[in-house]
Order: sequence, then structure tokens, then C-alpha cells
Amino acid sequence: MKELLTDPGTTRYILEKYGIRAKKKYGQNFLIDAGVVEGIVEAAGIGEDDCVLEIGPGIGTMTQLLAQSAGRVVAVEVDRSLEPVLEETVGDLPNVTVLFQDILKTDLTEVMKEYNEGRPMKCVANLPYYITTPVIMELLKEKGCFESITVMIQKEVAERICAGETDKEYGAISLAVQYYASPKITRDVPPSCFIPRPGVYSSVLTMQAYETPPVDAEEELMFALIRAAFNQRRKTLVNALSHGLAFKGMTISKEDAAKALDAMGLPRDIRGEKLSLEQFAGLSKLMKQ
Ligand code: SAM
Repeated sequence: MKELLTDPGTTRYILEKYGIRAKKKYGQNFLIDAGVVEGIVEAAGIGEDDCVLEIGPGIGTMTQLLAQSAGRVVAVEVDRSLEPVLEETVGDLPNVTVLFQDILKTDLTEVMKEYNEGRPMKCVANLPYYITTPVIMELLKEKGCFESITVMIQKEVAERICAGETDKEYGAISLAVQYYASPKITRDVPPSCFIPRPGVYSSVLTMQAYETPPVDAEEELMFALIRAAFNQRRKTLVNALSHGLAFKGMTISKEDAAKALDAMGLPRDIRGEKLSLEQFAGLSKLMKQ
């Protein structure tokens, strides 16, 4: 069996051997802690029937471990200069395929069809921080592509995603994610677990995708209401909706917004940040024209 890369010495040796310097523009912070890598794979609950999509395998540290538990691993890496390294570290693993492309330009449904007979995959990644939110939203919106998503991201972002309407971290991202999945932080990870060390703490977040959304909503309109509410979170919801709604040319008068809040039993001066997902969903049904 190969020497696993989670030993920091081996990681440093590989980086030196191939003259690799972590590229900031690709958010490269390589994991060097065996316990953390094992913890991510465990949190993802990978079994031999699973096809795993790994985003950004880097030098293959987590890929090696995923390949031991999963039936198949498809790893998507944007940085082609890592090709010779990945060839050495995971090139001879028969159940690993590396695709050199940008995850944001990858047709996920095609990957699912080609590598998992159209059945939902599990996504596992130590995500590059510069694209955390767009990647998570892309994965969640590709309905039916993923059973679960387990990612290492900035601790602060993980907390925002998990927040509810009584928490100060609550925001549009909490609602957006919680409409598609149930998120949970499984552990916090200090900067010392990476080369180079990032400036912030990280967390491992698992998102279990819902087969059907937990609330009944006019989906597109609900997200437009949420955006309007949180773009101007200091305003009352009535003001935010009457001034800031951007949805297919639709306008909402103060009067109509106030009436909708009355119908929901909410005070007219409430701010959007106090509404739960269920309440935003209810509002979208009432506002549908
Ligand atoms: N998985 C490795 C680890 O844990 O040691 C590396 C994680 S590093 C934080 C992020 C990885 O994502 C890097 O390998 C980087 O090149 C890759 N990456 C950055 N942007 C990407 C993109 N748009 N599509 C695919 N991979 C990307």
C-alpha cells in the first residue's frame, strides 16, 4: 500500500519533489492532518456503493482515503500543473478518475450519468475558500445530483449556513442552503492542519440533501424576497420589499406588503431577518400575482 500523504513529512517531500508552491489564486491549502482527513471521510459516511465527487484533490491526500472506502471517486481539479503529482499519488488507483477542469464549468448531471449510472453522488471536498458559496449553491441547485455534500470551509461561513432566525449570523445564505438541505457542523479545524496555514479557522460541514424541500414555496419569488430583505437588512421588510424587489419587473406596494404581513400574523414593522424559512415561503405564496 502507498504511504499516505496525511503524514506532514510525506506531503512536504512531494511538494518539494515536484517544485510545487501553493497557489493563492486557486485557494490551495493542503491538508496534513490524518485525523482531520479521516474525520471528513467518516462524516461523509462513504461506503462501497458510493460514487464520490471530490472537488480540488490537490496532491491527492483525501482522494487516496476516499478511494479506500468508495466504489468510485471522480476528482475535479482546475490546476493542471498538479497532473504529474496526482499521477504518482492516485494514478494507479483503479476506482479514481481525475478530470482537469473548473468545477464551476463542469456539467454535474453528465458526471453523474457517466460515472454513477445517473444515481445521486456524494460530494466531498476541502473547498478553495474563494469559491465556497457559488460552489455550494451550484451543487445544491443541481437537484437530484447529490445525496450529501461534506465540505471543509471557513468556520464563519459554516456558522452562517447553519444559523436560524434567532442567531446573529442568520442571512440569505442560511435560507438558501436550508431550503435544499439540512446542514450540520461536525468539527472545527485549526490553521495548523494545513500547508500553508490559512488565516482563519475552518469547519467541516455536512449537508444532507432533501428529496423534496421542507417548505411549500413559490421558489424563485421566495429567493427574490429573501434577497430584497437581506440586501437592506436594516430596513423594515415592508420598506425593503417595496423598494428593493428585483423579480421579473414585479412591484409590491407598501400597502400590499403590510397586508401580507397582517395575514401572516406578523407585525408591520418587522425586519426580514426575523422571518424563518417557513415564513418566507408563506410570504411567497401570498405575494404570487
Ligand atoms: N484536497 C486537497 C487537500 O485537502 O489537501 C486540496 C484542497 S485546496 C483547499 C483546494 C483545491 O481546489 C486545490 O487543489 C485547487 O487547485 C482546487 N481548485 C481551486 N479552484 C478550483 C476550481 N474552480 N475547480 C476545481 N478545483 C479547484
